[in-house]
Amino acid sequence: MSSSDTSSTLFSPLALTQALPFLPLSQAKVDYRVDLRSEEGLIDTLLRKASTRVMLVNKGKVAVPHGQGDLVDYESVHMRLAFLPGEYLSGALAENPGILAFFLGQESAGPGQVHDYIAIDISNAHQDTPLPDAAHVGADDAFGPERDTPVATGLTMLERAERQLDWVSLRGFAPHCSALEAGLATSASTLSMWHISQRHCPRCGARTQTALAGWGQRCSNAEDGKRVLFPRIEPAVITATVDSRDRLLLQHNTAWAEHFYSVSAGFVEAGENLEHAARRESAEETGIIIGDLKYLGSQPWPFPSSLMVAFKGQALGTRIEVDGEETEDAVWVTREEYMHALASESMLAPGKATIARYMIEEWLGHEI
Ligand SMILES: [Zn+2]
Repeated sequence: MSSSDTSSTLFSPLALTQALPFLPLSQAKVDYRVDLRSEEGLIDTLLRKASTRVMLVNKGKVAVPHGQGDLVDYESVHMRLAFLPGEYLSGALAENPGILAFFLGQESAGPGQVHDYIAIDISNAHQDTPLPDAAHVGADDAFGPERDTPVATGLTMLERAERQLDWVSLRGFAPHCSALEAGLATSASTLSMWHISQRHCPRCGARTQTALAGWGQRCSNAEDGKRVLFPRIEPAVITATVDSRDRLLLQHNTAWAEHFYSVSAGFVEAGENLEHAARRESAEETGIIIGDLKYLGSQPWPFPSSLMVAFKGQALGTRIEVDGEETEDAVWVTREEYMHALASESMLAPGKATIARYMIEEWLGHEI
């Protein structure tokens, strides 16, 4: 095998197949370092390292530098996370139990050099901690034009961050940022939303405490064995179905915006496997029976906690019968018909950063 053959067989850790390109939101750019999560004092140690990068998350939204929040609706703009200096935050964490910290992992930045990533979750920050006197010195350009605001205002760094940084949703941020930051934001946002929604042990009802550097919770009840709880991930299937003429099946669901057309998707039922769910959803929504199914890829979809598993389906027939409840319309399109529909805006495509859009582009053979 020649070297070029070898390189063509090297898959990214994200790709089980090469059908879809890198999908935003998937985290593969940092080493999770799961082994470090149970280390005593890990967060505090890392916050004191100058090389550690600290991002902020608040009820699932992430902080970006001042002024960037207005960019979400523009095409071809680049956005980045606002990173804060960790050393000023360990005090706030110690004094405010409502503030959570997640260790997101490590990025290799050259021989012997690593950046550790931490997300500070201020969703439940209630109380304030005065900043140490020198806290404003070098306190990150993320604060933008107001970076020189004197600490004497009495605002804590986190309060200032909350006011002066822009906060954007993952949906708004992901299409515009690097793969690394999209992944970091996805992990942070997912954990943040989980900790907001679950504060008690689902088994015994006792309060839970954050564990494993934010990736788990521990039930506080000794009689319940202080069990460790993990975030639930809900699998969903999404299927791009083609017929024998390689036309794509697109559907419009009642819950969607007008003219929005996409492929079939739905949650996996208890006791069901992925391929059954894909075939069932198709049959329910459009009456199309799928034969062969090919795995295309997957994408975390943390709204709030799904994992989208994508397939390409081969239809056994073409007779469409929409259910009229969930799905209002479904239609077979050729590539030419689809491009024409997009141009005339009789059809709108799924948003950037969605796996549905990549699936349609895979069928189309080019970007939308
Ligand atoms: Zn319990």
